[in-house]
Amino acid sequence: MHGTPETRYEIDPAQLREAIASTDDTDRHLVGIYHSHPRTEPKPSDFDIANARWPAQVYVLTSLRSEPPEVFAYRITGGKAPMLPIVES
Ligand SMILES: [Zn+2]
Repeated sequence: MHGTPETRYEIDPAQLREAIASTDDTDRHLVGIYHSHPRTEPKPSDFDIANARWPAQVYVLTSLRSEPPEVFAYRITGGKAPMLPIVES
């Protein structure tokens, strides 16, 4: 956990690499990296964009500023963060 979890999040790179590698020989798949914004909109912050190190992953953000929480997904790469559709199945 980051020292200021209200405004920052932190992922252990070794733990994430291990999680991705552990899906290689199984039916499990890493579907994305999730974090929440307790009081702000569910949109990647400048910090989120600058620190997104896995461009192949989907970044899922939820905002707890309203009820029900808002949830959006993004691909964060090259300093940009286009929104991705979330499809219920
Ligand atoms: Zn964020």
